[in-house]
Amino acid sequence: MAEILVLVDHVDGEVKKVTLELLTLAGRFGEPAAVWIGPGYEGAKDRLGEYGAAKVYVAADEELNSYVVAPKAALLAQLVNEKSPAAVLVSATAEGKEVAGRLAVKTGSGVLTDVVDVAEGFVGEHSIFGGGIIAHAKVNTGTPIIAVRPNSVAPEPNAVTPAEEQVSVALSDADKAAKIVEKVVQEKGERPDLTEAAIVVSGGRGVGGAENFTIIEGLADSLGAAVGASRAATDAGWYPHQFQVGQTGKTVSPQLYIAVGISGAIQHRAGMQTSKTIVAINKDPEAPIFELVDYGVVGDLFQVAPQLTEEITKRK
Ligand code: FAD
Repeated sequence: MAEILVLVDHVDGEVKKVTLELLTLAGRFGEPAAVWIGPGYEGAKDRLGEYGAAKVYVAADEELNSYVVAPKAALLAQLVNEKSPAAVLVSATAEGKEVAGRLAVKTGSGVLTDVVDVAEGFVGEHSIFGGGIIAHAKVNTGTPIIAVRPNSVAPEPNAVTPAEEQVSVALSDADKAAKIVEKVVQEKGERPDLTEAAIVVSGGRGVGGAENFTIIEGLADSLGAAVGASRAATDAGWYPHQFQVGQTGKTVSPQLYIAVGISGAIQHRAGMQTSKTIVAINKDPEAPIFELVDYGVVGDLFQVAPQLTEEITKRK
């Protein structure tokens, strides 16, 4: 069976959920071969095996970690040339997409980005115009390089014991053009990561101001959820941009998504419509979000959300 390379996303050895999704996807079409770059592999090995990584190419060389993006593309290009994989999967994050583009140039291959699913023959599915249209695209040249949006595929365990191969790559001067001089670790806080959370509570323009986001945070905390926001809320400076959900923000696909004071514009839906259960609290019964929801509460969020928080807290 042909190998399918999966570039592992990890933060200091902690494997991101998107990698498990990519391994699941790879397993549908060939033998998933994870590519690990940086320290911490030993601690992550079992997790990769649990989701079907039949092989892991391990590049633990400290130097590969000292430069921005380019070494990852260089290593993957070398593996594409040496191992002739059937395809390469990366996450459609800012970094993943940059790696994909560079890799495409280095290997003379076609690249698909922001793919939400992959069908037989490495046909990538794109959700465009805020999910209104599904477009299919296929790479005709070289090795298909596919950047898949996080939360597009449900990760499925498929335990194997990975074979390991240590790999390295000689970096060119161009690969070393941008050196990492400092890494500032963002404070993780108590809440789960937005793109990986099982429950997300998001606030929109209806929240009315930065100070009122404590209502959204209170509800989120009662449920052990992550906090999200609409673009109207982030553009107004009420909540940081990194928490924006939607077409130009993060894509989330939790078990439960609660939209509070959000109208349900197509660009917001693009980032949350695959959530398993969707709940909305909105005072306008005609709000478009109600077309999408499993449960809708027509009411003033300033009354409904605190009551809901109180009730959930009581029942814990
Ligand atoms: P509004 O549309 O103003 O809705 C506010 C809602 O709150 C209303 O439905 C109102 O009834 C309700 N409300 C008000 N007061 C209360 C109350 N007291 N109690 C209960 N309900 C109340 N948007 C995103 O979210 N994410 C994106 O990634 C994104 N990308 C975009 C990209 C492009 C290219 C463009 C053009 C737009 C994008 N947008 C995005 C913006 C999008 O079109 C909408 O403008 C935005 O989603 C609206 O945010 P909102 O629902 O919070 O605000």
